[in-house]
Amino acid sequence: MHHFEYRNGEMHAEAVPLKRIAKEVGTPAYVYSLATLRRHYQVFDSAFAQVRHIVCFSVKANSNLALLRFFAKEGSGFDIVSGGEVFRALKVGGDPKKIVFSGVGKKKEEIEYALNAGILMFNVESEPELVALNEIASGVGKKAPISLRINPDVDPQTHPYISTGMKKAKFGVDIQRSIETYKRAAALKNIDVVGVDCHIGSQLTSVSPFVDALAKVREYLDRVLVGELKKEGAQIRYLDLGGGLGINYHDETPPLPDEYARAIIRGLEGLDITLILEPGRVIVGNAGILLIEVQFVKETEAKKFVIVDGGMNDLIRPALYGSYQAIQPVVETRAEKIVADVVGPICESGDFFAKDREINRPKRGDLLAVMSAGAYGFTMASNYNSHPKPPEVLVDGDRYYVVRKRESFDDLINGEVIPPALQ
Ligand SMILES: *Cc1c(COP(=O)(O)O)cnc(C)c1O
Repeated sequence: MHHFEYRNGEMHAEAVPLKRIAKEVGTPAYVYSLATLRRHYQVFDSAFAQVRHIVCFSVKANSNLALLRFFAKEGSGFDIVSGGEVFRALKVGGDPKKIVFSGVGKKKEEIEYALNAGILMFNVESEPELVALNEIASGVGKKAPISLRINPDVDPQTHPYISTGMKKAKFGVDIQRSIETYKRAAALKNIDVVGVDCHIGSQLTSVSPFVDALAKVREYLDRVLVGELKKEGAQIRYLDLGGGLGINYHDETPPLPDEYARAIIRGLEGLDITLILEPGRVIVGNAGILLIEVQFVKETEAKKFVIVDGGMNDLIRPALYGSYQAIQPVVETRAEKIVADVVGPICESGDFFAKDREINRPKRGDLLAVMSAGAYGFTMASNYNSHPKPPEVLVDGDRYYVVRKRESFDDLINGEVIPPALQ
């Protein structure tokens, strides 16, 4: 469900014609729909209404301040993976008591920053991290609330780059070993064991891996809760099930939040615990598009190419994961269908948005919308080939706001210095 629809043959974001945004802001540009965000957030949150829960929006999916501010106002917490993301979450008035910190390589400065901010918990991913966390917490005179990220060894049946809960992944602590790690944690003076966590991957299109992971964590939790850990004085109050619910990019049929929630709630029965969820993609993915302009249609003997002004520097998902992004004309057309690669200006053959895609033959200057670009779009953008990053635009009804302006050439060289010897 989203609010990018044709009205009188022209695609609009809510009530704003994309053509108008292209004219006034230029291309490439990310365009987000606030009504879509609101709906997605509320549908997700209310699906869990019957259990005590905290939704922690996963900041890495889309970290624009305006969007984060919206989530904070809705009462959302934040799942963060770096000091920079703590900074963003605090900047928008996010409640530190709803911030959870994941990631395998947290640095000392990042940990200190989060400790001083008083976040809800650190999702610890290894024993060395646990030891370091204890030391750093002691250094700043605090106790670090933690949950262990358990690796349940469940195959999420998604792209290998976004599978995170299998035995060989760099993430989390092996489920077999984790009782020992928990005991160790409970014995550390500056560690406060408060939860258990798992996140098995992203863009999952069925509930069964979630259910399997929950069952494994649950079995483990029951053992820990009634067993050894309680004796050590640790009390598990939070069960964090991570994010990962997929969206429809092409022909996937991911479960709706309601179905996902029902399966999880069923698995929680009899457990007195606060559930934490870390959705990213499912909230923002379909709430954004990348608006691009056709530069050239190039035909070689072997192939046709639609060359556009956005590239892998703006939206890397197709290049990185070979993922499918739907591409639609902004102005509906009856032009003949051709089969072409839709490619960007970057000097890499991996720079494409679509391969062998059937598309209405566009002309130079035509606008296209790369759909479902709201998650892992701008946040993964780079300046490769010295392209300024595109602006981000937030549409609200019949108004729009530039919530991040287009970078300038000066932005590109910001911080670079030519040493005196070379002047
Ligand atoms: C990336 C990530 C998420 C969000 O994943 P989505 O697939 O976008 O929902 C949640 N938790 C952790 C720990 C992550 O790394």
